[in-house]
Amino acid sequence: MDKVKVLYVAGFGRSGSTVLANSLGQVPGLFSGGEMNFVWKHAFLENRLCGCGRPLQECPVWSDVFSRAFGGMDGAGAQGIMASMHAGARTRHVGKMLTEKGRNELRPRMEEFLLASEKLYRTIPTVTGDRVIVDSSKEPAYGYAIGMIPSVDLRVLHLVRDPRAAAYSWIKQKQQPDSRDREFMHQKSARDSALLWDAWNAATEALWRNEKKTGSYLRLRYEDFVSDPKTGLRNIFDFIGEPHAELPLTAEAEVRMGVTHTVSGNPNRFDTGAVKLERDDRWKKQMSKRDRNTVTALTAPLLLRYGYPLT
Ligand SMILES: [Zn+2]
Repeated sequence: MDKVKVLYVAGFGRSGSTVLANSLGQVPGLFSGGEMNFVWKHAFLENRLCGCGRPLQECPVWSDVFSRAFGGMDGAGAQGIMASMHAGARTRHVGKMLTEKGRNELRPRMEEFLLASEKLYRTIPTVTGDRVIVDSSKEPAYGYAIGMIPSVDLRVLHLVRDPRAAAYSWIKQKQQPDSRDREFMHQKSARDSALLWDAWNAATEALWRNEKKTGSYLRLRYEDFVSDPKTGLRNIFDFIGEPHAELPLTAEAEVRMGVTHTVSGNPNRFDTGAVKLERDDRWKKQMSKRDRNTVTALTAPLLLRYGYPLT
């Protein structure tokens, strides 16, 4: 059985994963599904908007995937899958994922979720004709669980962004256009954002420590990607075994975004046309000194490891 190749973007939220994943989604042969960990809830329980602007159940791509993979599954079916996912693929399960004994304990709990996910990921290429699925869920435990599916060939792209930029994005109030119930995106304090940045990045490194040796793990700083997208994209193409892929760039740091079929993600997933790739350093001027110092102090060891300045 051919394996389905999944490029999993791991790391912490507000790291620029949506713009990176959707840039990759413009490349022929690559499909950007967005934050696919939300597919069960957003498609089957809430029928939120796909990146193409239609409710997910009415999107031509996803409705075809859902009917081929699950044939008329309802909300109750999705709830069962989510319960099985939550029983073994949450951040609190990372410790168990690190050992064979722990994984053997988690596998039966996640059986329903893993079987459904296998169907989902395997059906996408048959509908879209693409060779690689880009999944920007970022949650380390979810990605690791997807990698436990025998027919998935998981490549981990660990995306890191300066935690002060990420924290500034979490602190700010932002509109959420894909839901009728919630007008704004979730917010976090500087302290919570910093602690989660530490936890998710450390978990990503721990879970895929062996893949670093086998070449199934690649780390990329968001800042390096936007300052030289060509090199960043070329490195990713080599990493996923698509060395001759076409760059989606129209200028040095500009992507021509077409319509995407992302199930969830940053609201900029709806942007189409020419999109500039930018660092967004507003935090340097607009973030309070107190918040900045809190984040810097809490993230100092990894800040240095990833080559960010302390001051
Ligand atoms: Zn769509």
